[in-house]
Amino acid sequence: MRAEKPSILSKKGGAQKGASEGKLAVRVIAGLVSLFAVVGAFAIAPNTQTETVNVRTVVENLPANIESQPAAVRDYWRETRIERGDTLSSMLARMEVNPEDAAAVLKSLNGTDAIQQLKPGRVIEANTNSNGELLQLRYMQPDGQLLEAQKSADGSFTSKEHSPPLETRVEMKSSRINSSLFGATDAVNLPDSIAIELADIFSSDIDFHKDLRKGDRFTVIYEGMYHNGERIKTGRILAAEFVNGGKVYRAIYFQTADGHSGYYTPNGENLRKAFLKSPLEFSRISSGFTLARFHPILKEWRAHKGVDYAAPIGTKVKATADGVVDFVGQQRGYGNLIVLRHFGNYSTAYGHLSRFAAGLHRGEHVNQGDVIGYVGMTGMATGPHLHYEFRIAGVQHNPLSTAMPIAVPLNPAVRKQFMAASQPLVARLDMVNQLNVASIQ
Ligand SMILES: [Zn+2]
Repeated sequence: MRAEKPSILSKKGGAQKGASEGKLAVRVIAGLVSLFAVVGAFAIAPNTQTETVNVRTVVENLPANIESQPAAVRDYWRETRIERGDTLSSMLARMEVNPEDAAAVLKSLNGTDAIQQLKPGRVIEANTNSNGELLQLRYMQPDGQLLEAQKSADGSFTSKEHSPPLETRVEMKSSRINSSLFGATDAVNLPDSIAIELADIFSSDIDFHKDLRKGDRFTVIYEGMYHNGERIKTGRILAAEFVNGGKVYRAIYFQTADGHSGYYTPNGENLRKAFLKSPLEFSRISSGFTLARFHPILKEWRAHKGVDYAAPIGTKVKATADGVVDFVGQQRGYGNLIVLRHFGNYSTAYGHLSRFAAGLHRGEHVNQGDVIGYVGMTGMATGPHLHYEFRIAGVQHNPLSTAMPIAVPLNPAVRKQFMAASQPLVARLDMVNQLNVASIQ
């Protein structure tokens, strides 16, 4: 099975994904409404807003008596979608705003980040009357900030930004990996932020750069934040299942009464282990990167007692565990090297880096997941890659086959609360599995 892996990693989503993965991918829309209720009732995430709060704020400025207004000057809201190459000016023209108001509103918004970074696909709303007079302009930014420009009596515009209440919806997606993780997530329109978090949640058990196989599958239940029916951003993952090489991993989000949160197995074990499986940040770019001349992992391991990760120069390198910087600098074949000292007698080494995280120095404490450097090809490297070593008492061990120490478990009382709170989410994952089996047969 191992021999099959490089080809999976080498293919990006690409052209075939729509056809082949699209069929296998199962969208689970049925049952979302009831899930919504279930999650709310069990209060797994206390901050989650499960009620629709004042979503349609757009109509708030309508005059009280529309009928009494002369038809000629009636105002109304219209919207236009931002297209590639659009400027605010071109969109105002498309919405038939008169040139005077267009110039005045541009003047008031000139230089704001929102207008300089218009995101294609998003919507701009304008309140205009039939004379083309602009009364108000709104733009909901990707970060959830609503930009509003309002016309004053003197004809100028004043603008302000604020964050309106967002409606939280619980969404569920399920897909199967055919060529790459992103191929599978794209097939079901799973937002990238959720795909990356999914990989992060399981990163103590699965090395998403080396372990993925064709036929792996996942289900993820997560929050989406909506405004006027448009998803502004994503929230947290509430539960997820990842089947890797036939082995089932499950993660349930849980927040304790004192505010600590994390992901646990359905049995209440912490998913976060003392060491991450991979030191590379998982991203759309690094996930598809491959160098054909790299030998299979085991051969490579025997040759030089480390694991090589082919990745583009500049890919972020993370500390695989909490520790202290023991060495940062150049060392012969390793090029730019970082060595971290961890608890017990564990240490890790990261070689061939292009550069180090700003200010990183000997004796500095780093946390698991902190970015410590960037992939390069310094020292004796024939291509851009990270050379990673896992050492016990100074001796290199293969991290891919070494049993890793685990993190602190939940105490018995909290575990009991967890078991009760997680039950509906576990039931939902079970249900999705049944649907998947039914749809594939
Ligand atoms: Zn190496």
